[in-house]
Amino acid sequence: MKTYHGSCHCGAVKFEVDVDLTQLTRCTCSICTKKGGLFCYVPPDRFRQLHGEGDMTFYRFNTGEAEHRFCKHCGIHTFGHPRSAPELFLVNVRCLDDFDLDTAVYDIKVFDGRNWEAAFKARQECG
Ligand SMILES: [Zn+2]
Repeated sequence: MKTYHGSCHCGAVKFEVDVDLTQLTRCTCSICTKKGGLFCYVPPDRFRQLHGEGDMTFYRFNTGEAEHRFCKHCGIHTFGHPRSAPELFLVNVRCLDDFDLDTAVYDIKVFDGRNWEAAFKARQECG
């Protein structure tokens, strides 16, 4: 496990996470498709927001359970809280400044958020 440092584009939002980034998640839901995020799940005790809580706002849709947070100045989605586990942070690894997607070695698991109920059930059954 390593500590990575994340930020939005304008730098108002800064955070750090302690994670193992060998398994990333891509989601096919209507918003993830458009924002192009690649995600990792982080428990709250491994997430620290260093700056910019007041610089963030959020967007909810559909069931309203997921909280899609973004910087209100530059619009970048750095992290949020997923519908499948709202207690966790869903971090966009593209916003981690010391993680290089091009040289790192990782697997990408696809979460079929377009068919959320079925995908969530399948994941539960797999443990
Ligand atoms: Zn920003």
